[in-house]
Amino acid sequence: MSIAENLIKIRERMDRAARDAGRDPSEVRLVAVSKTKPAAAIAEAFGCGQSIFGENYVQELVAKQAELSAEICWHFIGNLQSNKVRQIAGLAEMIHSVDRLSLAKEIDRQWGALGRSCDILIQVNISSEPTKGGTSSQELLDLVAEVAALPHLRVRGLMTMPPFFDDPEAARPFFKALRELSRQVEAAGIAGVEMRELSMGMSGDFEAAIGEGATLVRVGSALFGERDYR
Ligand SMILES: *Cc1c(COP(=O)(O)O)cnc(C)c1O
Repeated sequence: MSIAENLIKIRERMDRAARDAGRDPSEVRLVAVSKTKPAAAIAEAFGCGQSIFGENYVQELVAKQAELSAEICWHFIGNLQSNKVRQIAGLAEMIHSVDRLSLAKEIDRQWGALGRSCDILIQVNISSEPTKGGTSSQELLDLVAEVAALPHLRVRGLMTMPPFFDDPEAARPFFKALRELSRQVEAAGIAGVEMRELSMGMSGDFEAAIGEGATLVRVGSALFGERDYR
């Protein structure tokens, strides 16, 4: 199947999942995860109306951004090392993977140097897996409060990657838990913090995530096919 056909199918599935959950489909946006995929594949999806693309690696984001339309909205979704932040300063419209204060401070510094602010999500390691990025649920509130005090960052929500399951329904409790954490952060009323976005759900489980309140689903292989390994 072509990228165009995949995109139509995914959008139909997203709309249906939203309606089944009593939500307005326009509340849920698709982040097309294009890591390891060539610029031509991104251009094809962009030509079909897809505007947000998610990249995991600094080098790839920089190269593709230089090659492709300036209208594309890039989100950075992967593990980010502080010493590489400068390379994507101003290029990424949102960073989904902020999980420590040192990283937040560097993003704040680099965007501040451009006289701009960066929208960020705090990544939560909701399943407490040792191999996964993300702050713990216990430390979340303190981190949000510290990050919110940085002048060039806007905290816009939370992101998570639950464990992989063959059964997408098995991921649902983790999505529910992220939504609950988001409510707790909202209730804390920290100045400058708006819990607008829940970035959760990937190719195998985005419908369950939408059912639990996702506003950004990050879909790669269902759109572009299996990944070419780097
Ligand atoms: C690769 C990746 C995705 C997309 O995964 P698929 O299963 O291919 O849809 C989503 N989020 C993050 C953080 C990723 O690294």
